[in-house]
Amino acid sequence: MKFIADGMLGKLMRWLRMLGHNVKYSNKLDDAQLIAIAKKERRILLTRDLELYQQATAKGVQAFYVNGQTQAENLAKVSQKFGICLDIDMAKSRCPKCNVQVKPIPKEKVADKVEKSTFAYYNEFWECPKCGQIYWQGAHWTRIRKTLETAKELSQK
Ligand SMILES: [Zn+2]
Repeated sequence: MKFIADGMLGKLMRWLRMLGHNVKYSNKLDDAQLIAIAKKERRILLTRDLELYQQATAKGVQAFYVNGQTQAENLAKVSQKFGICLDIDMAKSRCPKCNVQVKPIPKEKVADKVEKSTFAYYNEFWECPKCGQIYWQGAHWTRIRKTLETAKELSQK
């Protein structure tokens, strides 16, 4: 299951990548290009644009109209529709920026790449092989978990 998201769904795209999904995204693609790529690469088109959704469907492209008011609502909708698990598994997680799977990196290798306090406090780190960004489940993780919990509650309704 692979996705392509329209330019208005940049945030949802980042969430889905963190959850381990392959999501193509560029805010420079027009409607015709989005539909053509979805068709060629057999990607599900996620869109916030009802007209684009209808056009894609008419052309035989699998599409989903995402019209939630919050990220949690959007996540709940895609989770319900596609059976997406709303827990982040770092073994599958992708870099939100590059759509490439992150890899565990030994703590000693990140000493000069993260703040001293981060290095002192955390033991598990991951690196994006493409952009080199280092990830860890830091303080911001509380907010991430909270959004995912809200999304889970919504998806069970
Ligand atoms: Zn990256």
